Amino acid sequence: YFVNKVIEKNNFIIDDPETYRHVAKVLRHKKGDVIYLVDETETLFEATIEKIDADERQISTNVSKSTFPSTELPVAVTIACSLSKKDKIEWITQKSTELGAKTIIFFDSKYSIMNWKSNVIEKKVARLQEIAKNAAQQSKRRIIPKVVYVNKLKDLVNYKAETNLIAYEESAKQGEISLLAQTLNQEPKSLLCAFGPEGGFSPDEVDYLNQADFLSVGLGPRIMRAETAPMYFLSVISYKYEL
Ligand code: SAM
Repeated sequence: YFVNKVIEKNNFIIDDPETYRHVAKVLRHKKGDVIYLVDETETLFEATIEKIDADERQISTNVSKSTFPSTELPVAVTIACSLSKKDKIEWITQKSTELGAKTIIFFDSKYSIMNWKSNVIEKKVARLQEIAKNAAQQSKRRIIPKVVYVNKLKDLVNYKAETNLIAYEESAKQGEISLLAQTLNQEPKSLLCAFGPEGGFSPDEVDYLNQADFLSVGLGPRIMRAETAPMYFLSVISYKYEL
């Protein structure tokens, strides 16, 4: 569970209503059970439940400092995906959280099959943010990835990382996967990769991003669905830096 206070003493009280409900009501934990808490310093603590106070809706725990290795990727990865149907973007949010993304951006592009009206954006982002939180808990992540919406592909430049890529199947046809390998060999501290919709990026979108210093890279000879390509990318990064 992500707790928004730094744990200073051995006894830590969980008073956040949602976490209380999950621990006491959904999972029906009891005194003596062990749960895991992550604080703002991204440290994971093992905590033994001392008392569940149903009146105060509080849980007292006894925490021991963690020596668990971090579960965060050594490079801060942003994946930027074209808007798609609700179930697909929810899937992308959940799976890319499991695979270690730090920021998940959805953007509107020329061939996006969905558009969000301005009055629904806040609610939709909040729902995706909740999915990211749940997935982060289940994966024992140290941070909850941030979900962002940008309504113009051009605004992606505001989120640029040290190295910026665009997954472009035309580059894949030209055998440019080695460009991705070369880029990863440079061990950037942060990396952003943009993925197009089912219909792909339009050539002028690719030109725009190329001019903004986004390097077009192929992800192998097979064309993947829009939701598969970011998972391939995150898996390659994990293989490169973690295995
Ligand atoms: N319009 C394309 C076509 O029919 O050939 C397919 C687009 S693909 C379904 C959706 C997105 O996934 C692309 O815009 C790209 O970002 C990414 N993608 C899928 N396979 C890829 C590959 N082999 N190399 C690079 N990017 C890929």
